[in-house]
Amino acid sequence: MKLSSDALQNRTLMKGAKIAVLGAARSGIAVSRLLAQAGSTVLLSDIKSAADLHLDWQKLENEGIEIEAGGHSRRILDCDLICISPGLPLTIPVLREATEQNIPIVGEIEISSWFCRDPIYAITGSNGKTTTTALSGEIISKCDSSTAVAGNIGLPFAEIVFGKARHGRVILEISSFQLETIVSFHPRIAVIMNLTANHLDRYPDFESYARAKLNILKNMTGQDILIYNLDDTYLRQKLGDALPRQLGFSLSKHSQEGAYWTNDKIMIHLEGKEYCIYIKNLLLRGPHNRYNMMVAAILATLDGIPEKIISRQISGFRGIEHRLELVRKFKEISFFNDSKATTVDSLIYGLRSFDGNIILIAGGKDKGGDFAEANTWLESRVKTAILIGQAADRMEETWKNIIPLKRSKTLKNAVEIAYSLAQPGDTVLLSPACSSFDMFQDYEDRGRQFKKLVTELK
Ligand code: ADP
Repeated sequence: MKLSSDALQNRTLMKGAKIAVLGAARSGIAVSRLLAQAGSTVLLSDIKSAADLHLDWQKLENEGIEIEAGGHSRRILDCDLICISPGLPLTIPVLREATEQNIPIVGEIEISSWFCRDPIYAITGSNGKTTTTALSGEIISKCDSSTAVAGNIGLPFAEIVFGKARHGRVILEISSFQLETIVSFHPRIAVIMNLTANHLDRYPDFESYARAKLNILKNMTGQDILIYNLDDTYLRQKLGDALPRQLGFSLSKHSQEGAYWTNDKIMIHLEGKEYCIYIKNLLLRGPHNRYNMMVAAILATLDGIPEKIISRQISGFRGIEHRLELVRKFKEISFFNDSKATTVDSLIYGLRSFDGNIILIAGGKDKGGDFAEANTWLESRVKTAILIGQAADRMEETWKNIIPLKRSKTLKNAVEIAYSLAQPGDTVLLSPACSSFDMFQDYEDRGRQFKKLVTELK
């Protein structure tokens, strides 16, 4: 099968085609149903055993989807197209073989976009995607309830477009993995929050990771809009004269078009007009969240939403679970759960969100980041760091001459140590700078366990 840069043409090709969908999690199931509805013969394949998959086999088979459990068989190589789950690297043997045989490999976002007739606002970057997507969705849905919010944030894109439903716009959170295999995906507006070291365990180097993110621009034209972080020098350099209309956002710089932050307001310039969005009683802490708020404000302003409504919605937004979430204030000690802070960069933003007196709990599965980048902020903000998980040795080696360190084998013990060290007025912050898979199911499991331990402190 030969895919083209024309989404409609790709959609037409699906009728009667044989498609293998690898990965039977929520987005894999959703895209299988979408393809079956479009007349494809679908083989949904997963390495998990039938018992571990928890699928409604009967229902899926009634829809014309064949399921293969316990491994990806060579039948995949008989298909016209392969759709992979974002967790699967293109380097696994069956995908290498498929590439050699010129079988196109795409992701769920790409396929769903062939069926989407609504404008797409795509949000990507290393950090801040979920918060920005959720906040933009909240503001824009307030004024147009037909707005859909999907992608990595939870609801698969394929579920949004299933059944030919129409929406005012689809706001999508997209990871670099999904952008790797884009063919005709074409957002009307793309946002690149930032480009910092992340997933270096999956990409050979930073350049390859950045290339995947910038792939979002592949099909964009001069009619489209790119919103990007002006303060990110690397990103600015990489973008150069990219084709779409460029709107920058910055904490200090004023661009001709875009947004900047000043005192308690966001100033936006668009097509010669100025918009001023006052932010009262800020609930979202830290400089990083200012970037997230600016992006949401630009998107809402582009959609014609009045400044007053944007201001009210942003000011009332409490943030989302596991992102600098206040768990409890106990004996004048504040406990914050930032379990989603899985990179050194997000650790730095976490530290910058407080004036000082932090007892930090960090560590987890090592993603290969440079822990020394946090040194200045650790020195100025952290009283003691308690290190957990697989990355603890490397963290200790990097930070031993910077701040007092303690080691702990469990999160429970780490919370107890932090509590015993904290004085009234201090902040205990879980901001691991690592992923969670060495000790937990995922970052949500880590965050929930932390919250439970904190809530049980006496
Ligand atoms: P993502 O979806 O990109 O992982 P989230 O909104 O879930 O981003 O936030 C994850 C973590 O990244 C937060 O806990 C915070 O530490 C950090 N973060 C959030 N927004 C930003 C930003 N704009 N720039 C840098 N770091 C951020």
